[in-house]
Amino acid sequence: MATLEVKDLHVSVQDEEKKQEKEILKGVNLKMKTGEIHAIMGPNGTGKSTLSQTIMGQPNYHVTQGDILLNGESIVDMPVDERARKGLFLAMQYPAEIQGVTNAEFLRAAINARRSADDQISVMDFIKKLDKNLKLLDMSESMTERYLNEGFSGGEKKRNEILQLLMIEPSFAILDEIDSGLDIDALKVVSKGVNSMRGDNFGSLIITHYQRLLNYIVPDTVHVMMDGRIVKTGGPDLAKKLEDEGYAGLRDELGLDI
Ligand code: ADP
Ligand code: MG
Ligand code: MG
Repeated sequence: MATLEVKDLHVSVQDEEKKQEKEILKGVNLKMKTGEIHAIMGPNGTGKSTLSQTIMGQPNYHVTQGDILLNGESIVDMPVDERARKGLFLAMQYPAEIQGVTNAEFLRAAINARRSADDQISVMDFIKKLDKNLKLLDMSESMTERYLNEGFSGGEKKRNEILQLLMIEPSFAILDEIDSGLDIDALKVVSKGVNSMRGDNFGSLIITHYQRLLNYIVPDTVHVMMDGRIVKTGGPDLAKKLEDEGYAGLRDELGLDI
């Protein structure tokens, strides 16, 4: 079993206009282990992407207080690639395009980066695994020979993020608005991919605006984030309640003035 813990996390970014640091996360606490799926919901601009980027180690996000522990070990000073090797994966809200690297090359390198030098995946095993996952995601083989995300449609990019997830098999996957811009068929495919990973060796933090995704990937725990903090935690019914009553209802209930 692996654990991921975020403790009293405060994060700021450089505000280019005002030329000063701006605090975005104001004390986030979150604890999860493999075998669990947690969802984070919350209005736009509350720091959900900031949290995911910070967990993954994106250097623009500065941890000013608190800690992030993977299996009890602090990772805040580790670069992104080291966190990835240790089992973290982030599917980004806006996946980057990488010229000159095909999808297949990227996937093989990413799998091998998590393995020791004497345990690299063979070409045959790689192709077998790739074929299986392409079928599961209803993706064409030609997608893997294209440059990473270059010219991919929004939906293709998201599907491709899930392909990466299935190929890399991280301990923890953070999925940042993986549902945005997806039609219902693509949403079902993406959900099928994530659900196929469910099990004792996999945990996921699913960030979404909408309850819809959580009908397909039913979380164990739902957190609501507002203004840089987790303000409420509950079960899957919390997502439904939010859908019905909106964030305004929760603000009133909690007496929040934000
Ligand atoms: P969410 O994902 O919940 O919509 P974000 O984490 O993207 O929220 O953003 C939270 C706040 O932090 C917003 O006000 C946003 O403008 C600001 N922010 C996020 N990233 C940066 C950045 N790199 N530079 C400046 N401001 C940022
Ligand atoms: Mg946003
Ligand atoms: Mg976001």
